[in-house]
Amino acid sequence: MNYQKTHYLTSAVDEAGLPHDSGIEVAFIGRSNAGKSSAINTIVGLKGLARTSKTPGRTQMINYFAIDEDRHLVDLPGYGYAKVPRPIQERWTENINNYLKNRKSLRGLILVMDIRHPLQPSDEQLLQWALNYGVHVHVLLTKADKLTRQAMIKMLRDVQEALRPLNNVTCQAFSSQNRYGLDEAHELLEKWFTETAE
Ligand code: GDP
Repeated sequence: MNYQKTHYLTSAVDEAGLPHDSGIEVAFIGRSNAGKSSAINTIVGLKGLARTSKTPGRTQMINYFAIDEDRHLVDLPGYGYAKVPRPIQERWTENINNYLKNRKSLRGLILVMDIRHPLQPSDEQLLQWALNYGVHVHVLLTKADKLTRQAMIKMLRDVQEALRPLNNVTCQAFSSQNRYGLDEAHELLEKWFTETAE
C-alpha cells in the first residue's frame, strides 16, 4: 500500500463531526505520551503528519487523515491524563464509545502502549469496549528500543499471554525510533485495508 499521499483532512470533537462513514478506516488510540503520534508518522513515513503530544489543542480532537479516497486513518484523542476534569473525561468516554459502536467503516483499532508500562487499567477498559462492539484490536507495544532485546521479548510474551483469552486481539513490539516491527505493522494494515475492500 502506498502512504505517500496521506494527508490531513479534518478534526472533530465527536463521531458526528467526522466525514461520511464510508470506505475503510483504521483508528489509533492510546494513553497520552504512549507514542501514538510517532507511531502514525513512522507507519505512514511522513514526519509531521500526526502532531506529537507537544502540540496542545488538537490532542483532544479526533484527527482524520486520508491515505486515498477509500482508506482513512483516524487519530483518536489520548487518555490517561492525570489532571483532566471529570466532565471532559466523561465526554471522552461517551465520544469514544459512540465512535467504536457506530462507525461502520472502522475496520480495526491500533491500541498503542508504551512497552515499559503495558495494560494499564485504562488500556484494559478500552480493550473491553472495543471487543464488546466487535472491533478488532492490534496492540502496538511501542518504544521497544527502550528495552534490551531480551526484556522486549519477555514483555511481548507476557502481554500476548495476558491477551490470549481474548478473541480478535493481536500484539506486536514496535519502535518509532529504530523502526523495529514496521514491516509487521504494515502487513497488518495491508490486511485490514484490503480484506474489507470488496
Ligand atoms: P502520543 O502522546 O501518544 O502521541 O506520544 P508521542 O508520539 O508524542 O510521543 C511521546 C514521547 O515519546 C515523545 O517524546 C516521543 O519522541 C517519544 N517516543 C515516541 N515513540 C518512541 C519510540 O518508539 N522510541 C523512543 N525512544 N521514544 C519514542
